[in-house]
Amino acid sequence: MYKEKKAKFRLKSVVKILVIISLFLLTITQSSALDKDLEESLPPLQTHPLPTPLNQWQDQPYSGDYFDQIEPSVAGYLLWSEFPIKIYFDRPDNPSDTAATTRRFNQWVSAVETSISEWNSYLPMTEVDRAELADIIIERNDPPIDVQVDPETGQLDIPRARTAQARYEFYIENNQLLHKMVIQISPRLSQVATLSAARHELGHGLGIWGHSLQENDVLYFSQVSSSIPISSRDINTLKKIYEQPTRLGWSFPGDN
Ligand SMILES: [Zn+2]
Repeated sequence: MYKEKKAKFRLKSVVKILVIISLFLLTITQSSALDKDLEESLPPLQTHPLPTPLNQWQDQPYSGDYFDQIEPSVAGYLLWSEFPIKIYFDRPDNPSDTAATTRRFNQWVSAVETSISEWNSYLPMTEVDRAELADIIIERNDPPIDVQVDPETGQLDIPRARTAQARYEFYIENNQLLHKMVIQISPRLSQVATLSAARHELGHGLGIWGHSLQENDVLYFSQVSSSIPISSRDINTLKKIYEQPTRLGWSFPGDN
């Protein structure tokens, strides 16, 4: 009896690991079609309650949104359901050191803190002191240059060096499907550019997985050098995303 239960439990764990691998493969191939077996082994799509600040957000008259530009992941919209969202970001070992490299690092930290405090008005966040505990990790380094083969031409596609990037991964904890966001922001940017980049990438990290076509929005697809504040359209889009169903933050089917 006990042994049978244990074997059943082990089988369930194996299925869940396969689910994560499948999601990962679907993510990198950018295919959003789930086959029926995978679909049935995932938590069903459901909506979470709207976080209070977004629930209270009213935009009168409505200035529009760019929700139609937002791409749901294979697990649904990339929204958070536990608040405050735990965020970790790099800090210098000795912030009071007066060396130029530390001063630049401190400026980077200050820009990241400003971007967090701005978004914090809409989605509560709290800093944690270890990356392993975080939902969103912000690293101070240059994103890798991914060289890909263009499927049309068969030629190597070498993109320009990027100064910031966000990516996500899925994992399972307490029988729930969860995600983690990793943001990289270059140490080479000016303080103003770091703030713009942090505001933009944090928007992705909070679930705005897509770009606005208007340059007055933080999530405009091209980084502009001047510092654009969070717009009503950014928040209208964020609110719509948080009203959508997702598999994230929900339990896997079956008793457990
Ligand atoms: Zn972007």
